Amino acid sequence: MNITITRTTTPKVKPDQNKLGFGKHFTDHMFLMDYNKEQGWHDPRIVPFADISLSPACAVFHYAQEMFEGMKAYKSPDGRNLLFRPMKNIERMNNTNERLCIPQVDPEFTLKAIKELIKVDEDWIPVDDGKSLYIRPFIIATDPFLGVHPSASYLFCIILSPVGAYYAEGINPVKIYVEDEYVRAVKGGTGFAKTGGNYAASLRAQEKAEKLGYTQVLWLDGIHHEYIDEVGAMNVFFLIDGELITPQLEGNILPGVTRDSVINLARSMGVKVSERRLSIKEVVAAAEAGKLEEAFGSGTAAVISPMGELNVEGKKIIINEGKIGALSQKLYDTLTGIQWGKIKDEFGWSVEID
Ligand SMILES: *Cc1c(COP(=O)(O)O)cnc(C)c1O
Repeated sequence: MNITITRTTTPKVKPDQNKLGFGKHFTDHMFLMDYNKEQGWHDPRIVPFADISLSPACAVFHYAQEMFEGMKAYKSPDGRNLLFRPMKNIERMNNTNERLCIPQVDPEFTLKAIKELIKVDEDWIPVDDGKSLYIRPFIIATDPFLGVHPSASYLFCIILSPVGAYYAEGINPVKIYVEDEYVRAVKGGTGFAKTGGNYAASLRAQEKAEKLGYTQVLWLDGIHHEYIDEVGAMNVFFLIDGELITPQLEGNILPGVTRDSVINLARSMGVKVSERRLSIKEVVAAAEAGKLEEAFGSGTAAVISPMGELNVEGKKIIINEGKIGALSQKLYDTLTGIQWGKIKDEFGWSVEID
């Protein structure tokens, strides 16, 4: 399939590079592609960024049949445009599609679409340290039909947003509220899928945590309210007595690309890494025994987000005196070094957009 390109005749004024924030500004173009039963995926096109017109009856508005992804393009000091393990995101995209009854996309073609779009909007990739171009592919169900049934038609869209450095003011560990009432996912549900419904269902707990003065929610499993799942929209790691522990992939947590990279990187540094069930009780006991050394979340946006405090049923646990730990810092420096093409990529994770 050939991607047709229609360039904008009215390029936008670029936003102030020092006030980018996250997901507020969008580039001049977007990628669109349609799906219907007769033609499959068809008419891939790069067009000027604009509103899209849909019937109010579209399935996505009523039953949330949709998926999304999140990844970044990075400008290296020598001017190359880099992606970080993009095929992992595309593979996950199809796993989400499968769960949500959305048709599969061709992985190679999807990578080509992402690269082509970025090439058209290349001058939107921020060059300053720590800044990047966030890539948001998503698919929505467009059937104008109120019956509860997988849609017969879909729209695949990719939009791009220049984003600021996540830690513009240095890495400050965040305070985490361990949620014991609301749950995010259960086995057999959609916890492993990157889909909007999971987020809609998480907002209430996030709001509650914020009201209590916490930045993020730590989710416990939906059945026992005991085993740790994730933190906010990040995977989670605890360094206990020299062992780096992260919950195993059992269907309720999102298989993060950053999570997988942290596991591989830590192992290459000689750290013992375990993917296993970890109960909040074990974390509390480790803290009381002075063995809880570090804790952090992992995800594309922040890369590594250290946790400085956990509130467990009103009890406050301070981790590493509220400061970023040595391993967290080393993982952050190495991962971001690879992503921005500043250090040697021994894993073959960087993919150049050429
Ligand atoms: C996207 C996401 C993550 C992190 O995944 P990365 O691929 O590392 O960005 C973790 N948890 C949830 C719920 C997510 O949506």
